[in-house]
Amino acid sequence: MDHILEISDLECRYHELVAVHDLSLRIRENTIACLLGPSGCGKTTVLKAIAGFMGIHGGEIRLRDKVVSRPGLHVPPNKRRVGMVFQDYALFPHMSVGDNVAFGLRGMSRADKRAISRRILRLVGLEGFEPRYPHELSGGQQQRVALARALAPEPDCILLDEPLSSLDVDLRERLGIEVREILKAQGISALMVTHDQHEAFAMGDRIGVMHEGRILQWDTPYNLYHEPDDRFVADFIGQGRLLAGRLSDKHTVETDAGLIRGNRAFVWPIGTEVDVLLRPDDVVPDPDSALRGTITRKAFKGAEILYRVRLGNGCELLTLFPSHLNHEVGEQVGLRIEAEHVVAFERTTPTVTP
Ligand code: ATP
Repeated sequence: MDHILEISDLECRYHELVAVHDLSLRIRENTIACLLGPSGCGKTTVLKAIAGFMGIHGGEIRLRDKVVSRPGLHVPPNKRRVGMVFQDYALFPHMSVGDNVAFGLRGMSRADKRAISRRILRLVGLEGFEPRYPHELSGGQQQRVALARALAPEPDCILLDEPLSSLDVDLRERLGIEVREILKAQGISALMVTHDQHEAFAMGDRIGVMHEGRILQWDTPYNLYHEPDDRFVADFIGQGRLLAGRLSDKHTVETDAGLIRGNRAFVWPIGTEVDVLLRPDDVVPDPDSALRGTITRKAFKGAEILYRVRLGNGCELLTLFPSHLNHEVGEQVGLRIEAEHVVAFERTTPTVTP
C-alpha cells in the first residue's frame, strides 16, 4: 500500500462560504508534505477535515485506503489514527509532561504508559522531563512535548498546524530540522500547514501552494522556486523580479536587461509579450559585462549580500553577490544573467516596475 492519505476533489464550506474547493492531494508513506499559503486561504480547514473535526461537502478523504470522510459519511476523530500538533502547543497545563504524553494511550497499564512516555520523550530530546509541568518549559520544549504526545499512540499520519510559528526564527529553523528528522526516523507521514515558506522548505518533501481554497501547484521545494507554474506562486515563493520582454525566437526573450535564453522552447508564438522571472541567484557579478547598473539597496545576509541594482534604462534587478564583494549603495557594478531555468508568463496585464 502506497498512499497514507488521499484527498480527491475536497470541498469544505462554512454556511455559504466555500473555504476549500477542487482540492486533491496524495501523500505516500514516509513523506512530509506541506500546505503553504497566505492567511485565510483554507489551510487549517483542510487539516480540520482530515482530522475529522468537521464534515465535508464534496469529494472524499481516505486514510490508509479507507474512506473516512465523504458527504454523508464521517468517521469520528478518535477512529482515524491521526495525531495533531497545534501552533499553541495546547498542552494540558495541570498535567505533568509525562501525563501529557501518555494522554492518548488507551487500554494500557500505567507501567506501559510510563515506558512509552519515557521512550518518546527521549526521542524528542527531553529525557527525564516527565515530572515537570508545561509552565516550567520553554516554548521549544513545549512544542516538543506536543509532538511527543501526538507520536505516542503511533498514528499513521500526523497533522501539524503552524507548529513552529510561535517560536523565534533561530529556534524555528533548528526545531524544524529536528522534527523532520524525528518523523523520518519513525517513518511517520505528516501534513503540515504554514504561511511561512522557510518553515515549509525546512520540513516539506512536497509542498502545495494554496490560494483561495485551491492548490495552485503541488511540487518539490526546488521546482516551486525554480519552475513556478503560476504568477501567484512565483510571487509568493522566494524573491525575484518580473522583467517585461518579447519572444524573439522560440528560446529567447528580448528584455531591457538584454537577451535571455531559456533551456526549453517557449510555447507562445514569436513576438508574444511576456514577463520573465529573474531570481536573485539568476543574476551574478561580472566586472567585464556590458550590463551595468547602480546599487540602490543592499542587505547583508551573512555569506551573501543581496543588492538591488538599477540599470541605465530604469529597470531594476535583484542579485546575490558573495559576501566579500562588499559594495556600497551608489556604486556601479557589472552583472550577467545566468538563469538555468527561464520561467516566463504571458503578459495579460501591464507590468509595474516598482
Ligand atoms: P490562517 O493562516 O490565518 O490560519 P487559513 O489558511 O488556515 O488561515 P482557514 O482558517 O482554513 O484559513 O479559513 C479559510 C476561510 O474560511 C477564511 O475565509 C475564514 O475566514 C473562513 N473560516 C474559517 N473558520 C470559519 C468558521 N468557523 N466559520 C466561518 N468561516 C470560517
